Amino acid sequence: MTNLYARIADAIKNPAQLFLETTAGQRITYGDLDGLTARYANALVGLGVAPGDRVAVQVEKSPEALILYLAAVRAGAVFLPLNTAYTLSELEYFIGDAEPSLIVGRPETGAALAELVARTGSKAAVATLGQKADGSLAEAASEAPSTFATVARGDNDLAAILYTSGTTGRSKGAMLTHNNLASNALTLVDVWRFTSSDVLLHALPIYHTHGLFVATNTILFSGASMIFLSKFDADEIMRLMPRATSLMGVPTFYVRLIQHPGLTREATAHMRLFVSGSAPLLAETHRAFAERTGKPILERYGMTETNMNTSNPYDGDRVAGTVGFPLPGVSLRVADPETAAPIPEGEIGVIEVKGPNVFAGYWRNPEKTKAEFRDDGFFITGDLGKIDERGYVHIVGRGKDLVISGGFNVYPKEVETEIDGIPGVMESAVIGVPHADFGEGVTAVVVLEKGATLDEATVVARLSKTLAKFKQPKKVIFVDDLPRNAMGKVQKNVLRETYKGLYGGS
Ligand code: AMP
Repeated sequence: MTNLYARIADAIKNPAQLFLETTAGQRITYGDLDGLTARYANALVGLGVAPGDRVAVQVEKSPEALILYLAAVRAGAVFLPLNTAYTLSELEYFIGDAEPSLIVGRPETGAALAELVARTGSKAAVATLGQKADGSLAEAASEAPSTFATVARGDNDLAAILYTSGTTGRSKGAMLTHNNLASNALTLVDVWRFTSSDVLLHALPIYHTHGLFVATNTILFSGASMIFLSKFDADEIMRLMPRATSLMGVPTFYVRLIQHPGLTREATAHMRLFVSGSAPLLAETHRAFAERTGKPILERYGMTETNMNTSNPYDGDRVAGTVGFPLPGVSLRVADPETAAPIPEGEIGVIEVKGPNVFAGYWRNPEKTKAEFRDDGFFITGDLGKIDERGYVHIVGRGKDLVISGGFNVYPKEVETEIDGIPGVMESAVIGVPHADFGEGVTAVVVLEKGATLDEATVVARLSKTLAKFKQPKKVIFVDDLPRNAMGKVQKNVLRETYKGLYGGS
């Protein structure tokens, strides 16, 4: 049986072992999972969910929301989590595209959701699940039987659809199979050495691949425990570190921890592993964290469509500014974006991957799926990068963020790294803005450290020593903060929109 849930259940060695606890004192053991997921699976079936049906879920983070994920998979349904920030009118698109047979929303928005469903002619049932195990689904589950025969699924059947964050155009549903998720989790358990002695601080959202699959499935397959937090809070993380062994975070978590006066070697002595991903970790953050704690952050690279692709080594050099080596079973190559020809070592091209981790395509979008796979099965990630002489993979940014100025390619990361090296600069984002003469004008958006004063001329003068003229920003804009999404990614599309008229264009 290859149902992901069945594989997780098979891996349970000690039913008394704690799976998760919350700071409010809620505890779920591995032994509890069978009955809890059975109740929710029965409730789903009672609401009309059949194998292969999509179960769309937009609820706050809670242990029950995780149980719902496992129950949907156990019932052979396709779990479809949605970002809690989506508005009701944004949900309309997902409901129309995914055609779920059930939508689970928050108790507060249940009525509005039901209205939307009625208005759009969707056939979906509507149920609710609140953060305090309240709502109609929780009620139905509490009354449902505690046994359930896990629905048999094949390796290539869908376990989940996750919509990509969609910074260009409509977001697309990435179809993830039972084997995509199981194989990637088992690989991560192995390479990151997770065992039942581990305790993970879980502070990520669970509507995204990082918190839902990378963090949760790795814990489930290793029989480890987690302290399940509703959100990231640096004080809370510092307080809990003496009881934990590991943290998985986005770069912003680490930036915040470095700002915390309590971050010391002693405070992190019990922690064996800090993992970062979902957005680039500045080399400077990596170094500062290692200086304070003696522990180098392990940076890895993945995406919704592919699960995890590369990781810095557990043993061996965790090189700042790189995402390490391809994971076992994952083939990774760098190709010319136009011709798909392989690119010599050290040169920048588009990263392509193939392996059991790579998704089955975009939901009901065969054209897009075809366009993003090469004929030999490699998925074109859209990330630009290179492989250095030691085999470490470097990401230089998304292809769509590449700036082409006067016909020359400008890789934003190269310019950002130089700007970030100027004393007084906290961080920067380099974007291309329409420009009548150059096509795009290189534009730097810069955040200064508190109290620092710098002006455009000083920044440009500094850069002229290290960067060719065509890479130097034509304008430098100072802002208080860069726009970021929930995973800490800088939203360059928002910046491009804000500054699109900067050079007189529109
Ligand atoms: P998502 O599908 O939301 O997980 O976003 C995936 C994208 O995040 C990738 O295609 C990369 O552009 C970016 N990303 C993920 N991890 C890293 C990393 N360690 N360094 C740089 N970019 C990353």
